[in-house]
Amino acid sequence: MRDPRFDILFQPLQIGPVVARNRFYQTPHCNGMGNLRPQAHAAMRGIKAEGGWAVVNTEHCSVHPSGDLMPEVLQMLWDDGDIPPLALMVEAVHEHGSLAGVQLAYPAYYNANRMTRDVPLGPMDRPVSGHHPVQVRAMDKSDIKALLCWWKAAAQRARKAGFDILNVDSNFSTIAFQFISPRNQRTDEYGGSLKNRVRLLKELIEVTREGGGDACAVSVRLIIDELFGTEGLRAAAEGIEVIGMLAELPDLWDLVVGTWADDSPTSRFAAENDHEPFMAGIKAVTTKPVVGVGRFTSPDTMASLVRRGVLDMIGAARPSIADPFLPKKIEEGRYEDIRECIGCNICVSSHFAMTNLRCTQNPTMGEEWRRGWHPERIAGKSSNATVLVIGGGPAGLECARALGERGYGVTLAERESRLGGRVTLEGELPGLREWLRVRDWRVTQIDKLANVGVYLESDLGVADILEFDADAVVLATGSQWRRDGIGRAAFKPLALSSGLPVFTPDDVMGGNIPSGRIIVYDDDHYYMGAVIAEKLAVAGNDVTLVTPAADVSSFTVNTLENIRTAKRLHERGVVMVTHKALVGTQDDQALFVDARTGAAEHREADALVLVTARLPRTELFTALTARIEERQAGRLRRVSCIGDCEAPAAIFAAVYSGHRFAQEFENDDPILRRERINLAA
Ligand code: ADP
Ligand code: SF4
Repeated sequence: MRDPRFDILFQPLQIGPVVARNRFYQTPHCNGMGNLRPQAHAAMRGIKAEGGWAVVNTEHCSVHPSGDLMPEVLQMLWDDGDIPPLALMVEAVHEHGSLAGVQLAYPAYYNANRMTRDVPLGPMDRPVSGHHPVQVRAMDKSDIKALLCWWKAAAQRARKAGFDILNVDSNFSTIAFQFISPRNQRTDEYGGSLKNRVRLLKELIEVTREGGGDACAVSVRLIIDELFGTEGLRAAAEGIEVIGMLAELPDLWDLVVGTWADDSPTSRFAAENDHEPFMAGIKAVTTKPVVGVGRFTSPDTMASLVRRGVLDMIGAARPSIADPFLPKKIEEGRYEDIRECIGCNICVSSHFAMTNLRCTQNPTMGEEWRRGWHPERIAGKSSNATVLVIGGGPAGLECARALGERGYGVTLAERESRLGGRVTLEGELPGLREWLRVRDWRVTQIDKLANVGVYLESDLGVADILEFDADAVVLATGSQWRRDGIGRAAFKPLALSSGLPVFTPDDVMGGNIPSGRIIVYDDDHYYMGAVIAEKLAVAGNDVTLVTPAADVSSFTVNTLENIRTAKRLHERGVVMVTHKALVGTQDDQALFVDARTGAAEHREADALVLVTARLPRTELFTALTARIEERQAGRLRRVSCIGDCEAPAAIFAAVYSGHRFAQEFENDDPILRRERINLAA
């Protein structure tokens, strides 16, 4: 049963004309499905409602073609034809007794209108963000009037779609905030004083209220601190003043800080509840409910924020993605079952990839409709087959857990004396501690399953596996980092001299650590090169990170960590060198070629750490397959590889791979539904 100290999270809350059944508020978040994949979108939001989120919001919903969000996959309410896809989501949310909210948005500087080719409109004549060769035209009074009409019409359509809460977005990427920011240099009544700059938000709230009518609540999502020094809006100064000015006008305040990268920082750079300092004093200037975010996964933190009067509702995007059933689990006192977000932002990367949302912790995310997966339920077993899973990394753990949930008899064998594979090793690297949650949640769940046996220090070979005589064998034996230099830039092994010792991340994580002048060569481009460089620099070495890419850790643009990574490396004294491809080593020198000029360059060092690519550990697969072909494998007809042992990738892919195997085991016809354009209509 639930601890009474969390009762406060289950008190209903009045939001204007509607009532939220508890204090869990799924803030708007992108998902790569949007209005292109409305059935997938609706199913995902419906599962959040089923999991207990009292309010479930959409992502950005553009109000007019001159505020086109494409190619980002989001929502729109440009005409009545956009109502049915959103009504689908509303129905899915209402089915479980939750309130549906829509985030009305107009991007202004944030978009170049790449699809509609309308001239973007905004506070001032200036370039759009994102380096597109397009400028925004400064709105005159008639443009502002038009915007208010478009907005009201979108609010009316949102009401027709059935939404309960209409959100006026005043986030970094939308127009109301771009007017409020002190960076707005207009000289008319929409610029200059704070009262003038807030005018547009006030008018947008008013037309939303008119469009929504009496039955809909109106909320505002507002940046209270721009994190842009004295040039930007600051919480302690004008931020709180904005709320004070409009205090009772909306029915709820949903508050954010900075840009998306600040609002959703990864766990490498920010802990849970990092925004609380910005919320101080807000409740003193408004009686309306206040929502805030902070990657909340701890029920104690949540209850404390509500009890102390900092927030009225717990806002969450990522924690609701990692565990759509987080509220239900707290309600039922099942705290250890919460699948805590690890703060990796792979979810964010799927928005940039414009593909169905994916999550490291929750492999069912984005697959609810197209594969029929549910985060808490899985089909029962089809037979009494037994399965031997070899390797207890993220792939093996998830596979064993999900097969166990299905009811199969599972044996999980791990060579080491501890579970977790790469997650256990990587969790010791700087800033990656929270990633251990991938292992810990699965180990906790497996411990509850009497039909899953775990054997540590079990380094299984071919004979052991055949002797075990399972009906199916799943290899989750992982991968190892290459030490020959092959990666994205090199297709052939590099000529490496013995004069410059070569290390890999496996060496460093295993305790074989170089010292002195170290070159970390990053041709992997995600986090590993940077965290290895950071670890070595913190230990007092003279570290240079060299990459053939134009930017350090270039993939992390997609996880909103790119700038913070460079800052951190700089703070740790790591020298960063870009555009240099490693071509070999000679004596104690690493040889590079500049990708732009073709010029050769030598760098002297005491050690070279190669972070380039990984090789799957496939020895068991090869040997077992040969035995099956020779009919020397007893009953065994097939072995399968999952995770990094099939093809090395990021941790989310290993978890997904393990889960997919379990879902599709003994199922010859797994579904993969697609949403097609209906030409007949
Ligand atoms: P993945 O990311 O695909 O889960 P990991 O590298 O994290 O891969 O995990 C693979 C795990 O498999 C490691 O913990 C490793 O110790 C274990 N392993 C590898 N070979 C064997 C084997 N022959 N028998 C048992 N365990 C093994
Ligand atoms: Fe959290 Fe990572 Fe899942 Fe995003 S992908 S919700 S950051 S665990």
